[in-house]
Amino acid sequence: MSPKTETLRFQAEVKELLGLMIHSLYSHREIFLRELISNASDALDKLRFEALTKPELLSGEERLAIRLEVDAPARTLSIRDNGIGMSHDELVHNLGTIASSGTRKFLEAARAKGDAATPELIGQFGVGFYSSFMVAAEVTVETRKAGEPHGWRWRSKGDGEFALEEASGVARGTTVTLALKPVEDDQDFAEPAELAALVRRYSDFVAYPIEMAAAHFKERGDLVKSTAPDGLEVARLNSMQPLWSRPKDEITPREYADFYRHVTHEYSDPLETLHFKTEGGSEYTALLFLPSERPFDLFDPSSKKSHVSLYVRRIFVMAECEELVPSWLRFVRGVVDSSDLPLNVSREILQKNRAMAQIKKHVTKKVLGALGNLAKERRADFLTFAKNFGGVLKEGVVSESGEGGERDALAPLLVFQTTHEDGATTLADYVARMRPDQKAIYVLCGEDRERLARSPHLEAALAKGYEVLLFTEAIDEWVLERLREFEGKPLAALDRGDVDFVDDAAKQELDGLDREHRGMLESLEQKLTGSVARVRFGARLVESPAALVDEPNTIGRNMARFLAETGRPAPERRRALELNPEHPVVRRLIELHKEDPTSPKVAEFTELLHGQALLAEGSPLADPGRFSKLVGKLMLSATS
Ligand code: ADP
Repeated sequence: MSPKTETLRFQAEVKELLGLMIHSLYSHREIFLRELISNASDALDKLRFEALTKPELLSGEERLAIRLEVDAPARTLSIRDNGIGMSHDELVHNLGTIASSGTRKFLEAARAKGDAATPELIGQFGVGFYSSFMVAAEVTVETRKAGEPHGWRWRSKGDGEFALEEASGVARGTTVTLALKPVEDDQDFAEPAELAALVRRYSDFVAYPIEMAAAHFKERGDLVKSTAPDGLEVARLNSMQPLWSRPKDEITPREYADFYRHVTHEYSDPLETLHFKTEGGSEYTALLFLPSERPFDLFDPSSKKSHVSLYVRRIFVMAECEELVPSWLRFVRGVVDSSDLPLNVSREILQKNRAMAQIKKHVTKKVLGALGNLAKERRADFLTFAKNFGGVLKEGVVSESGEGGERDALAPLLVFQTTHEDGATTLADYVARMRPDQKAIYVLCGEDRERLARSPHLEAALAKGYEVLLFTEAIDEWVLERLREFEGKPLAALDRGDVDFVDDAAKQELDGLDREHRGMLESLEQKLTGSVARVRFGARLVESPAALVDEPNTIGRNMARFLAETGRPAPERRRALELNPEHPVVRRLIELHKEDPTSPKVAEFTELLHGQALLAEGSPLADPGRFSKLVGKLMLSATS
């Protein structure tokens, strides 16, 4: 070494970090490249910024670029930029003696989790420049600060100290040269094709060209090739097109669609594109898409809860970032590019970050706004959306405790099956069609539309000309529990005992009937002990003799099913058998009971009525064999 060489020791924290880097068996060592390219890109940004006030730093002609160079026999890889560069003191500070806040946070997290957690933390934090020691036995940094005459060489094996010396003939900017460790896991960082793939994967949208000697890519017709200012024929490895950073009015629908296909790997066009920028508050640009097709794993509990990637100043930070959108917007695809988040952010930091929370809230508002417009302006597309993703949106109503007013914003976007000829409707359209005398938004929950359409519970409502929403999705019943009302109209389930359409006079009549036949009703209740809590007369039926209705405040069918499926104790579902006093079969039952209350016929009639009510609503019979035997007996007696 020349006599001018200084040897300096790494700060304790940096040394600790390097120890972890070198010894951790980390499977994503490749991220070092992303980190070094990010640093290079930042250095170019800084130069461009400085040159705004010091134009002598950068001639208008000069091309800002990042160059990768490999020397396969020597097994070295260099990452070169012609950016701002570092002075002697900056080198000492930045690369060794002062641990960055990122380093400190990383170490805190690593210590808290025990060193076993380090590999995963490296992936999250990146930890910048020091990541290079995962792949390099020795790292050399040659740099010259813009506007300074002398360059410097920094060199270290990551073993506790680094050497620093003046270097002549160094161009403005920084070159980081890695003496690569032997190939591990078949991943050779001296292999141009491997590097090209990594650039494509992690740094595609970096705003500067990332170039490599074209000689490595003779076969690749898809790469843009040109002659660099130093005369070298180079191929560009990144597309360099952060579409979202371009002005909206210069982007064609086709470009948006291509980008959509690039990020989603879909073949279709997006249903809707949202491209917006915020000013004030947390600054960010978003390019988001509503897909036109439903992914197969939308409801798979193990699938990702977000499909939005986070970029910071055009540099990719994190795919599937859950801090950007609530899980009930997991169908949204695209990119959020923040201007003021740090680049090396971990999930933990993101979770606590206020700017991030603001972005999430704002993105949510924007997406809901776009859906609102879709509902208003492109009805058919909106219904397609609702068919594909409406169920996910409903999770928002169920999961949010109303904070941020999101439930209010969500409610108008929900689409339900309906008895109306349109087949499906929003709540607002339903309300607009309500009859003047109609007090509530009527709802019936069940498994499928066809079965519900035949349900006896619908009879009286339909007879009165009321439209009924058919809640067929599993989540609908939860929506019912949470939503309660819309535009001041209560949501009322028709199979609940407290919902009927009787006026006071009819109610009195029913009460009279009930009193008159109390003895019979009680004996029926006794016969059906264990199956129903009550037998009574009701006015909700027109054509059917009997129906089962939930008693007020009992748990609903889906809820009971959910609790059973998840092995949780469910309170008993209290139901009543409601008889239609006008129906000939019920009248006959009353007569039979009057003639001989102990007759086995009364018992059989009761059982059959209960079975019919179960079948009509699509519920299973407790004992189908017995039911069919009773029906057979009845057939014979009717024909003999
Ligand atoms: P971070 O990039 O998160 O700050 P690093 O450890 O990667 O952490 O880098 C530390 C600092 O070193 C950077 O903030 C920057 O000031 C400086 N630096 C790193 N690489 C370069 C480069 N290529 N050109 C100029 N400065 C650089």
